[in-house]
Amino acid sequence: MGRPTDKISYDLEYYNHRQIMPSDEQNGVIWSDGPAAFWDKIIEKLEGNYDKVGWRSITELLDCPRCKLLAQRHRKEVKPTLAKMWRLIHGAALHDWVADVAEDGDRNEERHITAIVPDGEKTPLAISWKPDRKVFVDPETMDIRDYKNVFADSWSYLIEMGPKNEHKSQLQLYAYLARKYLGLKIRRLILDYAIVDWSQKDAERNSQYPQAPSYSCQIPAWSDEYCEKLLQERIAVWLTAEELPDNLLPYASDRERWVGKTCWKVYKKNHPSYRVEKNGKAVPKGANLATLAEAEALAAAKGGEVKKVEPETMFGKVARAKRYTLVEAEQVLAEMGGNEYGVIIEYPAVATRCAKYCLFTAFCNQRQEELANARQPPEDEGADAE
Ligand code: SF4
Repeated sequence: MGRPTDKISYDLEYYNHRQIMPSDEQNGVIWSDGPAAFWDKIIEKLEGNYDKVGWRSITELLDCPRCKLLAQRHRKEVKPTLAKMWRLIHGAALHDWVADVAEDGDRNEERHITAIVPDGEKTPLAISWKPDRKVFVDPETMDIRDYKNVFADSWSYLIEMGPKNEHKSQLQLYAYLARKYLGLKIRRLILDYAIVDWSQKDAERNSQYPQAPSYSCQIPAWSDEYCEKLLQERIAVWLTAEELPDNLLPYASDRERWVGKTCWKVYKKNHPSYRVEKNGKAVPKGANLATLAEAEALAAAKGGEVKKVEPETMFGKVARAKRYTLVEAEQVLAEMGGNEYGVIIEYPAVATRCAKYCLFTAFCNQRQEELANARQPPEDEGADAE
């Protein structure tokens, strides 16, 4: 039985496309931005996910009050952009999948609201909490698992530094509340990481690259006393912050602003090459000679003129394409032959959360001051000019 005509024509079209690779114009392909209105709806839905339940959630309490409060106070004044929300959309998609694909014993849907009395107060506050997965191993015992998206280029940092404190604290407080208020026993606390941009090709090429797209990390449990202390501390920080105007909010720490590590890369220096030309054309074997001496020897043997060819760019490929510590970079440069052959460039640490993901930088005096300082020349600059 023959295949339907439309399938054949599809195959042919695909085949032709692969074979002759016509330009987009020839092929009738029209590119444009994604459908803005549709993406706006997805962003709106995502924002709706954060509607307030109770006073604060455990996730909020462990996050930075400045970052969270500025977002809550100014949400209506800022239109989120798809670029800034892209990472959150990926995170939400992962959590939706986790909630949908429940295994036997999973109870993933419940959001708990627990009344906690802050130290020195009488009125309880409603704290909400919802682990991604609660996996019951018997009616009174469960594992708690939480899912996190990471990028492959931050994997080595995660392995070196271990899971983020707020991620560990989040699991610990879920476990503490489950023990104290639900009377449950906790068998294991697990962080499950999904490497969103994982590539099999990179894994095969590089043994330092994560070898699988997903990893789990079991965290040892903290004591109830420590968890209670942590919870009360975070409640106190938030109660204070809520009373403050924007510009007096406590500054976000480097950790809260996802400040990475300064790193150094080594670039290869491009050098001029030489050509031996006769009548405007390179003589045989006369092009791209590395040294003047070679070119002069060839010109003497075959005739013609030596021409120096400047490189198009000053620096070539990043040597071994890696981020180094300064000591490592210096070692690599020395192996390359020193300053004549390469150069070390410093990549200062960046506050990734502020620079890439925050929609509220205009309302954040901490970030504005940082940007203003970055634009100022160093204090002693200009002194020589006087
Ligand atoms: S600019 Fe940075 S510190 Fe300020 S609110 Fe945004 S993420 Fe937080």
